[in-house]
Amino acid sequence: MKELIFATGNPNKIKEVHEVLNGAFEVKGLRDIGCPEDLPETSPTIEGNALQKARYVYENFGVNCFSEDTGLEIDALNGEPGVFSARYAGEEKDPEANMALVLQKLENEQNRKARFRTVAALILDGREYTFEGIAEGEIRKEKSGSGGFGYDPIFQPEGYGVTFAEMDSKTKNDISHRGKAMRLLIDFLKK
Ligand code: IMP
Repeated sequence: MKELIFATGNPNKIKEVHEVLNGAFEVKGLRDIGCPEDLPETSPTIEGNALQKARYVYENFGVNCFSEDTGLEIDALNGEPGVFSARYAGEEKDPEANMALVLQKLENEQNRKARFRTVAALILDGREYTFEGIAEGEIRKEKSGSGGFGYDPIFQPEGYGVTFAEMDSKTKNDISHRGKAMRLLIDFLKK
């Protein structure tokens, strides 16, 4: 089976991607190659961060790899938190604090439209490829559900009456930003 390194230290992401890949590739994490898990993410864009993480691994470890970066873009906040999604409420990267800040900023706001955007970056034999996945939806007034991670308890995808945190992982993967980006990447690899 072909082996790919997923340049992330986030076990939630590894679990989700594993489910999407469904055995098509053997995915290994940074720990498996002895790479530090907190990779530099200093680009002003989601795409730039995804590429930065994949390049770091390719340049320092010489292995084919992919990475991904995700942001939550809220229309009423002019696209915030976007590339700052992980540290929106501070360097602690605390999801509870991040959600509380979003809910507070949207307190009197009627327009709750938002989307998750993922860019997956693949480096294969030195060539770079990117794949984008978007999930449209809205920000709930209160948290709901305990599944998933990050902003999932406040994000309700379009066409559903529940948040990502109230879905089982298969349903979330089928419609999520990360699921879409990863399926594009897998289709590319299969060709
Ligand atoms: P990053 O891609 O790890 O930089 O993630 C940016 C921020 O978005 C972090 O706070 C994550 O917890 C959050 N995030 C990433 N993917 C998801 C998701 O699928 N659902 C909810 N939050 C997410």
